[in-house]
Amino acid sequence: MRTARRIAEVREALREPRARGERIGLVPTMGAFHAGHLALIRAAREACDVVVVSLFVNPAQFNAPEDLARYPRDEGADARAAEAEGTDLLFAPPPSELYPAGFDTWIEPGEVARGLEGEMRPGHFRGVATVCAKLFAIVEPEVAFFGQKDAQQVAVIRRVVTDLNLPLETVALPTVRDADGLALSSRNVFLSAEERVSALALPRALAAGAEAHRSGDDPVTAARAILEAEPGVAVEYVALAEFDGPTLAAAVRVGTTRLIDNVQVARVDNRTPAQHASRR
Ligand code: AMP
Repeated sequence: MRTARRIAEVREALREPRARGERIGLVPTMGAFHAGHLALIRAAREACDVVVVSLFVNPAQFNAPEDLARYPRDEGADARAAEAEGTDLLFAPPPSELYPAGFDTWIEPGEVARGLEGEMRPGHFRGVATVCAKLFAIVEPEVAFFGQKDAQQVAVIRRVVTDLNLPLETVALPTVRDADGLALSSRNVFLSAEERVSALALPRALAAGAEAHRSGDDPVTAARAILEAEPGVAVEYVALAEFDGPTLAAAVRVGTTRLIDNVQVARVDNRTPAQHASRR
C-alpha cells in the first residue's frame, strides 16, 4: 500500500491503472477505523481493481470546534488496517492540500440536506458534499462506497452525483453493529462503560419503532418512548424520512457524545384485499 499526501501523487499513482482500464474504487473516511470502515474497504476490494481509501478529518463538516478537536485520530493503526484489507492507495492529505489559502467554492445541497442532521448541524452537509465532490474530482473513481449508518449523507451524496452529472456509481452498505446492537462509530470510544449501556437504548428504540411501524403504529412515538425512558440519553430528533426507502432515524446525546443511527422500515400496506383488487 502506498500513502499519498498530495493530490498530484494520487493522480500520478492512478494514471497507469486508469489507462489500462482498471476499475477504481474510493472509500472516503475520516479514519479511526472500526469494522464498519473495514466492511466498506472489503466491498471495494471485491468490486474493484484499485482500492483508494481517503483518510481526512474534514474540518468543513464539523459545526462544533470542540468536536473537531477531539475527533479520534490514529493514522498508524488505520494505515495498518487499510493495508491488511488490501487497500492500494491511502490518501491522507493535510487540510491545506484540500483547502488551500483562498479556497472559496462550496457545494450547497438543497432540500435533502435540510432536516435531521442538516438542522442539528448547520453547514455539515455543505462540508460533506464539498469534500466528496473534491475527492471524486481527484480520484475519479468508477464507484464510491458509503455506509447506511449515515443514511442522510448517502442521500445527499447521491443527489450531488446526479445533479452535477458526476460519472461514478455510489454503493451504500448496511450498518455494521456490535454484538449488543450498538452501531459502530468512531465516537463510541468516548462512551464510559455506563454510558455505553445507556447508548443501547438507541438501537433498541429504532427496532421497537420498526416493529410498531409493521403493526401499523407510529414508529416515531414508539422509538421516542424508549429513548425518553432512558435517563442517560437526551434526544435530539427521532424522525421517519424517505432516504433509500422509508427510514427511521434518530440522534441522541449520551453524556458529551453524540450518536446517530437509523433503520429502514418496511412499507405498511393498509389496503384491504378488496382495495387491492379495485386498483388493478
Ligand atoms: P466516517 O469515517 O465516520 O466519516 O465514515 C466513513 C464511512 O464509513 C461513511 O460512509 C460511513 O457511513 C461509514 N460507516 C461509519 N460507521 C459505519 C458502520 N457502523 N457501518 C457501516 N458503515 C459505516
